[in-house]
Amino acid sequence: MLRSDCPVIFFLLVGLVGCDANVPRRPGSNADLRSLGVVDGGPGPTFDRGLAPATDLGLAPRADFASAPRADVTPAPPRPDSGPIVPPRADAGSSAGYDYRKSITWHSISSSGKSCDAKRYGPYYCDVMGHTKSPYLSSDTMTNVHESQHFMAHENDRATAASDKFIYFRGGKGAFFPEPNLKTSGIVSSITFKGTTYNTYIASRPSQSLGENIVDEWRAYLTEEIAAIEIAAGKGQTSGINGLVLGGVEYLYYNAAMLHALQTKEPNFLAQYPQAKAVFAMLAEETIAWTVDRGVKKGLFFSLTNAKAQSTLTNLATAASQAHIRGTLRSLYGSAWTSRVLGFK
Ligand SMILES: [Zn+2]
Repeated sequence: MLRSDCPVIFFLLVGLVGCDANVPRRPGSNADLRSLGVVDGGPGPTFDRGLAPATDLGLAPRADFASAPRADVTPAPPRPDSGPIVPPRADAGSSAGYDYRKSITWHSISSSGKSCDAKRYGPYYCDVMGHTKSPYLSSDTMTNVHESQHFMAHENDRATAASDKFIYFRGGKGAFFPEPNLKTSGIVSSITFKGTTYNTYIASRPSQSLGENIVDEWRAYLTEEIAAIEIAAGKGQTSGINGLVLGGVEYLYYNAAMLHALQTKEPNFLAQYPQAKAVFAMLAEETIAWTVDRGVKKGLFFSLTNAKAQSTLTNLATAASQAHIRGTLRSLYGSAWTSRVLGFK
């Protein structure tokens, strides 16, 4: 994907994040940049944040939201310091089946205190950027929030001895996804639907860890989508958002396939780490509440994109080829939850 997408991005963007030789690559993701003939400068150069206004985390949103599968940049080194552990919430809300809030242990992180124009960029953009110690700042709003979400995870995911993956929720809290032994190549046999991002993230990163490559990418794409929805709302735009791949919906599927692979190949993992199961449910509910309910169902995105996302969900809910994944989700969450969130019993 990147081979064809990057030139497009190049001409569209002032700052070419995905193809910039000065942008360091993410560990294990060199295939993307190598395919572009980018020289590997090793782990190194700090990218230039000079474009950013000193007192505002946002830069001008683009007219559309270009979001091709991207070669991620290497985040700042993880930092051991983080906020206090917050006990699990006892006041879990919904009675409609499984409630992830009952199994999740929240981890709080501090705000950087930097200013951000929430009226212009939307509250979620500012929430994410304001909780990232070293946010990614380029001229592209969607890239900023996607990459900053990765950076935030790296800033926090060594807060546990096991280096679990930090997955953000909102309001300064997130949860750790425990890394299984399985790697990306281990979930391929469970994936029977290949979307736009498949080659970039699944086929090209066989040895990448699952929290990093599958769960965190879901978080980053979903973050973009929430930000885009809020920015559009601020501008009164009700249709035609172009350029987003809606990776949030695609990754919902890949993460469900990952659960199937774990259930099959590491049968004790999900029982041993209920937090992994809770993180999936959290992101699935967020994806449905934002990308699908506030975006796809309202016709907010480009019509073909809306249709593709809808078809991905319909495929998961009804296709014979996805029966194995529905079986996993039913067994893990119960049919009240699958019915409420994903539309199948
Ligand atoms: Zn990413």
